[in-house]
Order: sequence, then structure tokens, then C-alpha cells
Amino acid sequence: MSLNEKAERLAKTGAVTSLLVEGDLLTATVEGDTGTWKVHRDPEGWTCTCPANTLGHKVCSHIGAAALYEKYGVMWDAVNRARLRMARRDNGKEKDASTSRP
Ligand SMILES: [Zn+2]
Repeated sequence: MSLNEKAERLAKTGAVTSLLVEGDLLTATVEGDTGTWKVHRDPEGWTCTCPANTLGHKVCSHIGAAALYEKYGVMWDAVNRARLRMARRDNGKEKDASTSRP
């Protein structure tokens, strides 16, 4: 799995649990496979608290996920909320069906 694929998977599956954007500054919390990391962006660039970034100095999937989530998160959240509503409606139907049973 490439870094971009991993970043996209994280971003789409709700691994980005918080995102705060103020102009050029961004702070995000990303739940990775091995821990929960803080991602920061300032005018000098991106940093992440995970070992790949702090020790390996690499752009990691958490940074990728935060960047993707900044762009598309609103859209994905809307989709997730719609799914949640549909799931709740289905649960409601089941309840209605059970209560109408003799
Ligand atoms: Zn990272």
C-alpha cells in the first residue's frame, strides 16, 4: 500500500479525529495503526509526532491524511452522517416492526 493510499484510507475512515485550521496553521489528531499522533502545519511545513516523521524525517501517512481531510473532510463527513442516519432509520424500522408484533 502506498503512502497516498494509506493516507486516503486513514482520512476516509475517520482516523482524523480533530482538525483545526486557522489560515496557514493546521493542527490535527490522527489515529494511526500504531498510535495517536498530532500533525501540525505552519508556514515552514508539516510535522507529525510519529516516529516516521520525528526520527525518519519523512512525510508520513498522518500528514497525508490531515492534508486530505482538510480538503475533503467536510464532504466525507456529510457522507458518513448520511450513512449514520440511514442506519438509525433502519434500526427504527426494526423497533417499529417489533412493537407492532402481537
Ligand atoms: Zn506521522
